Order: sequence, then C-alpha cells, then structure tokens
Amino acid sequence: MFLTDRKKSKELNFYEVLERRTALGEGERKTLKILRQGFEGEQSYDRLWDEVGHDHLLIFRDIWMKVENATLQIDALIVYGDRLIVNEIKNYSGMYQYADGSWSVNSFQISEDPVAQVSRTAGKLIRLKYGGGHGHPFEVDRKVAFVNPNFNLTVDTEESKNHIITRPMLKYYMRDVARRRSGADASALSDTIRNCIIEDPMALPEVDVARIRTGLYCGRCGSFKLTLDRYRSHCTSCGHQETIEYQIVKAIVDYALLFPQHPIEKSSVVWLTGNQLNSRTIEFNMNKYCSLVRRGRHSAYVIDTSDINELLKIKGYNSKYEKKKKV
Ligand SMILES: [Zn+2]
Repeated sequence: MFLTDRKKSKELNFYEVLERRTALGEGERKTLKILRQGFEGEQSYDRLWDEVGHDHLLIFRDIWMKVENATLQIDALIVYGDRLIVNEIKNYSGMYQYADGSWSVNSFQISEDPVAQVSRTAGKLIRLKYGGGHGHPFEVDRKVAFVNPNFNLTVDTEESKNHIITRPMLKYYMRDVARRRSGADASALSDTIRNCIIEDPMALPEVDVARIRTGLYCGRCGSFKLTLDRYRSHCTSCGHQETIEYQIVKAIVDYALLFPQHPIEKSSVVWLTGNQLNSRTIEFNMNKYCSLVRRGRHSAYVIDTSDINELLKIKGYNSKYEKKKKV
C-alpha cells in the first residue's frame, strides 16, 4: 500500500502558476518541461504498481528525509522485512549510453548520473540504523526505474545493469518485489522512516512582481478574457464557468505558490485578482479559507495546503453555484 501521496512538487506548482501569469524565459521553460516529464514518469510508475498490486507492501512515495546531516529526496521507498528498496524514477526517452561511469544521449554527454544518485541515497539511508535509533541492521537495495517505453539504453558493465530496470522489465521487477511482502519488521522500520520525513525544503526563485499578470483566468483554457456576474466567471474564449469563490481561492493559492517568502495579505489578493472583485467578498473568503496569524503588529493569512482541491475540501467549499466541478 502507498503510505504517502504523490503530489506535484512545490517547484512544479510554482512554474505552472508562473507560466499562467507571465511569459517564461528560456531556462524557466526548460525547467518546467523537465519537472512535468518527471512528474508524469512518477505517475506512470505508480500506475504500474496499481496494476501489479501492492497491498502487502509498504511504499513511501515522493518523500524528503533528513538523515543525520543529509537531506534526501526519494521518489519511491519500499519497506519489507528489514530491507529497504530505493527506486529513483526517470522518464528519459531516446537513445542513451552508460559507459565508464558517464551518461550520454545521442552521443552528447549529460551531467546527470541516476545510478550514482540512487547509490548516494542508498548510502545515506544505511546510516538510519545509527541515527534513527533502530537497533537491527538492515539492507538497502537500489534501482533506477526507467519508465518511458521509448527509452533505449546501452550499458558497458554487468555491475551497472544490476541497478537499472527499464520499462519492459519493470512489471516483472515489481511482481518479484510484491511477492516478498512486508513483514512485522517492516512496520518498525517504516516508523523510523516516518520520523525522518521533512517538508520539501527546495528554495524557489524570487519573482519580480512586475512580470506577473494580474486578474482572473479560466481554469480550463487559461484565458484572462472573462466576464463576471455576482457568483460566477464566464470564459469568453471557451465558455467555461467557475464560481467567484473558486476564483478567489485560486488567487490565494497562486499568491502562496508564487511568493512563499511573503505573507498573504488582503491587499496582495486584491492585487492578484486585478482589482476586479469586491474587496469584502475577498475578505469573506480569505477568512473562510485561510487562518489568520499575528506577526508583530500586523496580521497575516496562511493556508493549510497549497493543493487547491484539498483546501476547498477541508474548508467546506460550497458548490451551490457550480455546474460541473466535484470537490
Ligand atoms: Zn476558457
């Protein structure tokens, strides 16, 4: 069973909102593309587990851990018996070569080395038994899982092959792991893991507010050409409708994702919505969806989660004026 959800990373969310609200630079576009491909790869990895079945296994997905002084990001961590398996998930496509410890694609050398990466992670996890208070020794196995069917790899040594699983073999591999089941030891080890999980510590770049296009946009096609009535926005490009309440929550979340360094204030949401909405309606919804915290003489709003669907759900979104959306 999956012990943790897999969500878009803070960084992916950030670049997706940025893309909605500004013209991305070359580097930003590239970063966003890589992040999206990575996330898609992770989702197809999860789907394969669902097909194979994982009821008797304990699988952490997409976690950040602090082990002694090291910070680790792990795509998938399987716990069974007194053994851990780290899976680094890669969604590469094309003709790759791995020779003399370096990777190249179509004869161009690339700087990323997923095998070295997964080995470093496994090496740090081994230290859990010293730092985490877990008495017994345990083993850490590691594999790089290449999930893309259009990935072709030539490897020079047998040793390197031991840590690589390509798409055609992935289901066999998962079935093999699933057969072993997580035993009683697994729950103690997974508790140890759980205690080391930390929030995503990635620092995001500061955004120049002058780049940001303010206003409300359509959640389906991204157009800023909307007409508003009292309860709903109507997209003049695709006809999609959203509630004003939903639009406000979206602006709050967008602001939180774009400017995590800044507190969310009413004036910032008024600004990001392009002064198109009644400020009392904004305030009403901020009180509903945010918590107010005192910061010195000022008060600032915070949100429990930047996952908009989750936020709507926990705060009791009223879909009375909603046509299709289900929360
Ligand atoms: Zn639209």
